[in-house]
Amino acid sequence: MALLQIAEPGMSAAPHQHRLAVGIDLGTTNSLVASVKSGSAVCLPDEQGRVTLPSVVRYCENTRIESGYDALKAQKIDPLNTISSAKRLIGRTLSDLKQDSHYLPYRFGGSEKIIELQTRQGIKTPIDVSAEILRTLKERAEENLGGELTGAVITVPAYFDDAQRQATKDAARLAGLNVLRLLNEPTAAAIAYGLDNASEGTFVVYDLGGGTLDVSVLQLTKGLFEVKATNGNSALGGDDFDHRLFCQLLEQNGLSQLNEQDSQLLISLVRAAKESLTTETSTTIRATLSDGHTINTTITRQAFHNLTQPLVAKTIEPVKQALKDAGISKTDVKGVIMVGGSTRMLHVQQAVATFFGQTPLNNLNPDQVVALGAAMQANILAGNKSDEEWLLLDVTPLSLGLETYGGLAEKVIPRNSTLPTARAQEFTTFKDGQTAMTIHVVQGERELVADCRSLAKFTLRGIPPMAAGAARILVTFQVDADGLLSVSAREQSTGVQAQIEVKPSYGLDDETITQMLKDSMSNASEDMAARARTEATVEAEGLISAVQAALALDRDLLNEDELNTIQTAITTLENLIQTGNADEIRQAVTDLGHTTDDFAAKRMDRNIKRALTGQKVEDI
Ligand code: AMP
Repeated sequence: MALLQIAEPGMSAAPHQHRLAVGIDLGTTNSLVASVKSGSAVCLPDEQGRVTLPSVVRYCENTRIESGYDALKAQKIDPLNTISSAKRLIGRTLSDLKQDSHYLPYRFGGSEKIIELQTRQGIKTPIDVSAEILRTLKERAEENLGGELTGAVITVPAYFDDAQRQATKDAARLAGLNVLRLLNEPTAAAIAYGLDNASEGTFVVYDLGGGTLDVSVLQLTKGLFEVKATNGNSALGGDDFDHRLFCQLLEQNGLSQLNEQDSQLLISLVRAAKESLTTETSTTIRATLSDGHTINTTITRQAFHNLTQPLVAKTIEPVKQALKDAGISKTDVKGVIMVGGSTRMLHVQQAVATFFGQTPLNNLNPDQVVALGAAMQANILAGNKSDEEWLLLDVTPLSLGLETYGGLAEKVIPRNSTLPTARAQEFTTFKDGQTAMTIHVVQGERELVADCRSLAKFTLRGIPPMAAGAARILVTFQVDADGLLSVSAREQSTGVQAQIEVKPSYGLDDETITQMLKDSMSNASEDMAARARTEATVEAEGLISAVQAALALDRDLLNEDELNTIQTAITTLENLIQTGNADEIRQAVTDLGHTTDDFAAKRMDRNIKRALTGQKVEDI
C-alpha cells in the first residue's frame, strides 16, 4: 500500500530539500543580503564581489531605475531624481519631517498621510524606493543561490513604530518578497554572535553607524531574546567624527570657506584618514585644492582620539539611559555586542570596555553582523532547522492605549512590554441609550490624549441602547511579534464586534520617542492634575445631566425653594467646571448630591407607588 502525503501547496518540503531564505539588513546608507550556505551565514556579493548595496535609487530619463553604486554615482548630477535615506522617511508624514525636510534635496509633495517625492518618473513614495532596493537584493540572492526565494527576514531598528514596520513590510511585498518576519536589528546581531546558545543573561548591543547610535538591552532567558529597553541618538555617528577632523584640518591650514568640490574632496580624505587610524598610529592627508592651495597634514591616532573624545563620551549617555530604563546596572551585563562601522574605532571600543568593565564582542564584521543574524533566523523560519525553536521577543517603545471620555488617555499596553503581547480591558458607555462608541487608539506616556500620538480611530456600532454605564465593551490590544498592533472592541451581551489593524498615519523616530518620554517626566505633576480635573469634570457633567433629566420628569415634587437650591447648586458646579480645580469640582459634586438627596427619596417613593398601582398584595 502506498502512503499518500497530503500538504498545503508550497508548504511541504521534500526530504533534505533546502528552502532558499535570506536575511536582509535594509540600512539607511547601505543594505546587505545574507544567507546560510553549507551551515554558515554569509553575505552575498554582486557580480563585482561587493556585498554592500548603497541604499540609493535613481529614476532615470527613460523608464530605467538604477539602484546601488550607479545611483550613488549619479547623486551629485541628478539629485532630484536620486533618492537616498528612504529609511528616514518610510512610514512617516511630511509633518513628522518639518524640521528635517529642508536638509533633503527632494521635491516633497502629497497629502499629510504619506510622503511623496516628485521624480521624473512620477510620484514615488519611500515605500517604492525601499522596494527597489529590496528587489535588487532579491535578484542578487536568487542569482547567487540559484533559485527562487521562499522568504526573507528583514531587519528594522528596535524603535521603529507600527507605521514604519508596516511600511517596510509593504515595500517587501512590492518587491515580491515573502516576509518571514521583521526582526529588530540588535536581536539579529545577538543571534549572529550565537548568544542564543549562551547561558542566560543580559546583553547590550551598541550600534554606532555613519549617522546614528542605537543602544539596546537584550535579555536572554531559556533561549528567548527579549528587548528590555532601547535608546540612542539619531544624530550621532561616524559622520560627526569626520566633521571634527574636517574642521580641524581647515583651521590648521588657515582655510575658511571652500567650494562644494573641495569640501567633498576633503570630507572623503578625512574619512579615509579616520578609518586608517584604526590600524595605523598616524596618517597624512595630502590634497591640492581647486585654487592651487596644497594640504599636507599629518594626524596621529592620539591627536584624533583627543579631538573626538567628547563625541565618544556622548555615546555613553544613551547607554546609561537604556540600562536605567531596563532597570539593571552595568555590572549585570553579561556581554556587549559591537555593531556598525564606527565601532572599529579603537577609542570607541576602549570607552565601551571601560564603562562595562569587560571587552566587547567585536570579532564579526560590524557592518555585516545584522544581515548575518537575519539570515540565520530566516534559515530556521523557512523550516531548514525545524528541530530548533527560537522565539524572539521585542518590546513596545511607547505605551499604547485609547481615549476615554473627557480626552484622557488610558494605557492598555505599557511601554517596554515584551512582544508579542495582548491585553484586554473593559470599558462602558457614558450616555444613556448610546449605541456606538469610537475607539481612538493612541501612543505615548502623557495623561491627556491631546499630548499623545493618534494612531487610529474606529467605531463600534450596534451597541444595544442601555443606561449609561451598563454596556460592557471589551477592548483587546494585540501586538504581534513584528510589532504590528490590532485592536478589537466587542460588546459583551450581543457579541457585536469591530476591529482595526493599525497602520498608523505617521511614524516616530528614536529622537521623538526620547522627547516624548522626557516630556512625560517633566510634565508628570501637571499631567496628573489635568487628569484629576478632567475626571472630576466628567463626573460633574454626568451628575448634572442626571439631575436635569430627573427635574424634567418630576419637577412637581419640589417646592420653589427646593427647586432654587438645586438649581443654584447646578449653576455653582457649572461655573466650577469652567474655572475650578479638581478638589473644588469634587466638593461641588458632593454638595449637589446632598442638595438632591430629598428629591431622590421623593422620586423613589413616586416610582414605587407607580409600580405598585393596580397590583394586589399577593402579587408582590
Ligand atoms: P555603517 O553605517 O555601519 O556602515 O557605518 C559607517 C561608518 O563606519 C562610517 O562613518 C565609516 O567611516 C565608519 N567606519 C568604517 N570603517 C571604519 C574604520 N576602519 N574606522 C573607523 N570608522 C570606520
